[in-house]
Amino acid sequence: MWKADDLLSRLYEEALQGHRAAGRSQSRESRKSDLTHALKAAIGHFEPNQHHVPIRLERVECDGYIRERVELSATPGLSFAAYVLIPAGGSSGLPGVLALHGHGYGSREIVGLLPDGSPDHGKPGIHQHFAVQLVKRGMVVIAPDVVGFGERRLDADLLKNPDTPSSCFRLSTQLMMLGKTLTGLRVAEAVRALEYLVSRPEVDAGRIGTMGFSGGGLISYAAAALDEQIKAVVLTGFTNTFKDSIFAVNHCIDNYTPGLLTHAELPELIGLIAPRPLFLESGKNDRIFPEEGFKQAAAKIQAIYELEGVPEKLQTDLFPGKHEISGRIAYDWLMRTLG
Ligand SMILES: [Zn+2]
Repeated sequence: MWKADDLLSRLYEEALQGHRAAGRSQSRESRKSDLTHALKAAIGHFEPNQHHVPIRLERVECDGYIRERVELSATPGLSFAAYVLIPAGGSSGLPGVLALHGHGYGSREIVGLLPDGSPDHGKPGIHQHFAVQLVKRGMVVIAPDVVGFGERRLDADLLKNPDTPSSCFRLSTQLMMLGKTLTGLRVAEAVRALEYLVSRPEVDAGRIGTMGFSGGGLISYAAAALDEQIKAVVLTGFTNTFKDSIFAVNHCIDNYTPGLLTHAELPELIGLIAPRPLFLESGKNDRIFPEEGFKQAAAKIQAIYELEGVPEKLQTDLFPGKHEISGRIAYDWLMRTLG
């Protein structure tokens, strides 16, 4: 009797063989161009909103920085809020960072606020209030509310359960049936947030980076692969192989993109960021993006950076910790790299 385990292994190996053959038969530039188009097509297209004018919702003076909240829209009929953190006294020429949270209660979780918007004076959770860490180092930070979390959960889910952690399932499944993906929507909104960041008078458009944690890492790498305005990238709690992470562990459905593995494994897709500076951070005890997969992915990405002649532009930090942000090297690296 033949088992389906064998079928899955064989299909996976055949996909890898296909990637290697494509890599051998093409120039690096042509392979990158093909993969970029494949990624863009796989995550799906959302009609851009050309007419929405950003609305400032609040402006609060905090310890060492200003926190604004703005309303933006990336696609007609849907808007979202984002926090913008500006270093105190910063008027122009500053680096800007797109900060993307993972599963949790939304952008408030990374700007030092509780779900109700009041200040969080307790010990930070796995997101470590990382947007605050970045603004305190001198970067202007935009932290959009990723669709599906916090106040961006669907009414359809909240009516059934007011404590539902996310709307990832309903959003992902319905969008997939329409030939789109939740990743595609999240990336479109991230890119809109980035455009707004670049338009701010405090920001130098030539010094733009992104930092994403976990599901936010997925959005960060895809946004950077598709948008050359992003000059430096920090991925934390995300880098791995598909095989060792989303195939080995039950992950949220928003991690799965139909057809993407026929084009490349995750390390090669992350390698689309090369030759731009890239920092990969992961906890040794991260059980959903395991250490072994991180090491394999990092080695493959390192090979890509060597191929492009810029091995020094890739940095990694495997820190003692779980599925969480460390930032012990990454925060300063990002400021230095964009500086
Ligand atoms: Zn999810």
